[in-house]
Amino acid sequence: MALSINLSLGEIEWIPRPRSTQLRRLGIETVGDLLTHYPRRYEDRREFAGFPREESEQPICLCGEVVKTRFNHFGRGKRIFEATLQESDAHALSQPLVLRWFNLHYVQKMILTGQRLVVFGKPRRRGQRLCMEHPEFEVIENDEEISIHFRRITPIYPATEGLSQRVLRSLIYRLLQECETDDLAILLPARLQIRAATDAWREIHFPATGEALARAREMLVLAEFFAMQMLLASRRARSRSRAGGMHCGRGELLERFLRALPFDLTNAQARVIEELRADLGSIFPMNRLLQGDVGSGKTVAAMAAMLLAVEAGFQAALMAPTQILAEQHYAVLRRWLEPLGVSVSLRTGARKEDPLPLFAQDNERRRESSSRWSSVTSARDACAAQARSSVPFGEIFVGTHALLYEPEGLENPGLVVIDEQHKFGVAQRGRLTTADPAPDVLVMTATPIPRTLTMSLYGDLDVSTIDEMPADRGRIVTAAREETKLPDVLAFLVGQLEAGRQAYIVYPLIDESEKLEAKAAAAEFEKWRERLAPFTCELLHGRVSAPEKQAIMERFRRGLTSVLISTTVIEVGIDVPNATVMLIENAERFGLAQMHQLRGRIGRGEHKSYCILLRSDPSPETAAKLAVLEKTSNGFDVAEADWELRGPGDLLGTAQSGLPALKLGNLRSDAKLMQRARAAAVEILRDDPELERPENQRFRCLIVEEEGQAFSHVS
Ligand code: ADP
Ligand code: MG
Repeated sequence: MALSINLSLGEIEWIPRPRSTQLRRLGIETVGDLLTHYPRRYEDRREFAGFPREESEQPICLCGEVVKTRFNHFGRGKRIFEATLQESDAHALSQPLVLRWFNLHYVQKMILTGQRLVVFGKPRRRGQRLCMEHPEFEVIENDEEISIHFRRITPIYPATEGLSQRVLRSLIYRLLQECETDDLAILLPARLQIRAATDAWREIHFPATGEALARAREMLVLAEFFAMQMLLASRRARSRSRAGGMHCGRGELLERFLRALPFDLTNAQARVIEELRADLGSIFPMNRLLQGDVGSGKTVAAMAAMLLAVEAGFQAALMAPTQILAEQHYAVLRRWLEPLGVSVSLRTGARKEDPLPLFAQDNERRRESSSRWSSVTSARDACAAQARSSVPFGEIFVGTHALLYEPEGLENPGLVVIDEQHKFGVAQRGRLTTADPAPDVLVMTATPIPRTLTMSLYGDLDVSTIDEMPADRGRIVTAAREETKLPDVLAFLVGQLEAGRQAYIVYPLIDESEKLEAKAAAAEFEKWRERLAPFTCELLHGRVSAPEKQAIMERFRRGLTSVLISTTVIEVGIDVPNATVMLIENAERFGLAQMHQLRGRIGRGEHKSYCILLRSDPSPETAAKLAVLEKTSNGFDVAEADWELRGPGDLLGTAQSGLPALKLGNLRSDAKLMQRARAAAVEILRDDPELERPENQRFRCLIVEEEGQAFSHVS
């Protein structure tokens, strides 16, 4: 029978039924599953070492014959089993090695005098004797076995319940022996192909040399990445093949907006706006991710895009994850866009029209303080200009993500901007991209993602990056301090408060349970209130109700409260320029990216700001981790470091991407391979979006398997 990747192991006659049943229970059902049960590591057993004369730190692999076994009692009911191993065909009689196991009864049943044994472990001197304690061992039953398990670079598989290394190894060995070169195709386009497929499978399990292993691994990782990138590229090709439209005005409105801005765009902003303009002006639906550090000016870029859309007569929508953020956006958009004659309206679940007093008041103050704003073309002029042009401006809607579900009045959106990707799932994005005709979609995220990760997780989106901060930013100094320095920190904090500044104090969530959380928060709050008296403090945590939370934020914003003590619930995107201190307690418990986000709450005004990382863990690892934040203020660098320390799983919901998990490749260390795989996939789908060409038929299965119905036009 010809073997194929998808053949069920139950159909292979030489695999006993109980074995295939056992494998199935472990999730290993097909030939492919077994072959992709990759070794966890390898042991170089090419050479059996000579019997040692001295102890060593380096584990060694030995082959010998058991000449004696015995067990001893020690202590109460405790047993020690010893087997003495002699070098088999030694001419010069070397010193025997004593293998010892404590309290492992089953070993005693496996090892008998006269057997040949291979052992792997560290030789230790115990009195006069050289011993190996709890070595890995295998009993050699015949010489064929030696060729599978020894005298080679031997694979060590991930521990699998009830399946020994030997059994797995023998199964995979036989499987690879039985298959012909063509049986087990590895799907790769010619430009990525580097060797025969079966060779790669053989070499990943039973490599002849280290170089052969590296080549095999490279090919299999490429194949794994290629499958992933084909999926992403096909999603992208599909969304581009849908009916969209051009949503780009002539740009006069945008010109007026830019001229009225009280600052110059950064180069990065200008570049991104051009990218957005090109997308809006094309008939393909835009699907773009805009990433940039907190405060890098993404909102300005988004507003520019919205102006292009409304100038063309379309509606535009801006959606935020929470009501507070929606209202903040609303205030900003009204302040900047209404003078241009563009109407902006707020849609949230709770209220449709009036903004919170906090924003209204804030607007007043800002409008007065910005002299350039008073010189903005008046709304009346703008309306007159509007009347002369043929197309009326579209309206701008601001709301929470609920806008997606109750899009009252939002009938003709040309552009939808979604703020804060991480609270926004793929499913919701899907809801937008299936609308017909499709609006242009721009997703903004303030959590920088390492480049290669972006490519993997959001490979179905185009990516724009603002990698430059406006020049006028107040500096943020970051310092990590041990908890013992609290008095100094306190004195510094009070100094800032006395100078009229405000501060955030953030501490980690101690317990998930709500009751305990509230209690811990209250205790924390009392502590700080005493320390900081007479300055006013308020407490914010997960248990505080939404209206109460808004009121607390409002008081802080107005400066009625000096210090906000909080778990990480302080909103991403909240903007209080007078707050200059971010004190993070138990900093060792936070992730770097998360602390970087928190740090983004300060340095928003003209004053120099301070981020203080208080740590209660004196370990060098913690110091090294926090040093990353002390050294860099660049979010992408922080993201890279965070990724290195914690892996992508914690950085953001990888599960959210809806992509299959990787079995071999490493998103970080194999980044170069990912780039090559991506380039190949993109090229294939660009030239043949429906995969109709004969030479591309073999790639269809990659997509059909994962996308099922969704890719139904591929049969
Ligand atoms: P983000 O959305 O990326 O966090 P915003 O667009 O909200 O950033 O901008 C943060 C602040 O910086 C806002 O007050 C905005 O007016 C201001 N800003 C934006 N672009 C510039 C620029 N090029 N120069 C100076 N200030 C800017
Ligand atoms: Mg923002």
